[in-house]
Amino acid sequence: MLPNILLFVFDALRRDHLVDAVMPRTDAVAKQGIRYLSAYTDVGVTDLSASMMIYGINVLGLGCDAPQFSSLPERLGDNYSSLAVLASGLLCNPTAAQLWTTFDTIWKCTDDTGEPYRYRPYLYPEKALGAFRELIWQQPQPWFAYFHVFPVHDPYRGDDGEYVEIDPSHPGLNAERYQQYCTWADTFYAPLLEEHVASGGLLVVTSDHGEALGNNGRFGHGEPRLWTLPSVREIPLAVVGPGIEPIEEETPISNAEVPRLICQSLGLHFEPILDMQPKRYPVGNLPPDGKR
Ligand SMILES: [Zn+2]
Repeated sequence: MLPNILLFVFDALRRDHLVDAVMPRTDAVAKQGIRYLSAYTDVGVTDLSASMMIYGINVLGLGCDAPQFSSLPERLGDNYSSLAVLASGLLCNPTAAQLWTTFDTIWKCTDDTGEPYRYRPYLYPEKALGAFRELIWQQPQPWFAYFHVFPVHDPYRGDDGEYVEIDPSHPGLNAERYQQYCTWADTFYAPLLEEHVASGGLLVVTSDHGEALGNNGRFGHGEPRLWTLPSVREIPLAVVGPGIEPIEEETPISNAEVPRLICQSLGLHFEPILDMQPKRYPVGNLPPDGKR
């Protein structure tokens, strides 16, 4: 019996924040499987990074049509139905639309509000989680689900539930709010991850990129000049599921390897598309990141 697969992506979650002190429940789930302590992404932009995880290659950055390559749903073949729940407006734009063409079912955060993601972030965690729970019941078993959630991307959610923009004049405050938001996201989403693993599912939990919180005086992640910062490139990555022993893996691994990790966890043959080694910024040779 093939397990259901959940590829769960916290948008903009730094690797150094998926730890017990900040996100204890998600960290505890991750510790049940293989934790990649040196996982990274090559890009600080949501849709490009998502293409790495779905196609194993940066199809948007290459200017390629995604259908030229095999997506994760295609690699899983007829064994699996596929669902994408996209709670980030950044994944709902026309450019990113080609990423989801091979999924059976897609839910997007802008479907019913029609508003840009930035203006109604408070709606999406609840809406997306509700949609996910409803849709997986409708999916033929087994299913593969790509679930991309907007927390912990800015604007950051404060303790009072209000969302606040990054304030470059107060780097310490940004870092504090970001951390609080991570803890909130942990409380909100960890039950889903725990349930999925407890039911015998295969879980990959990760992020699409990190976030500069004043590192070298910089904030955010999207500008290409930020993509050399470890705070932006370093991502959490863990694979948890049936038959997988808890282990820490130090070897650097790109999120373009996510399709391989999933296929190999299932014992499926995996045919790589290209050499995955990063060319421009080898991971062992990153420039300094300043204050962490
Ligand atoms: Zn993102």
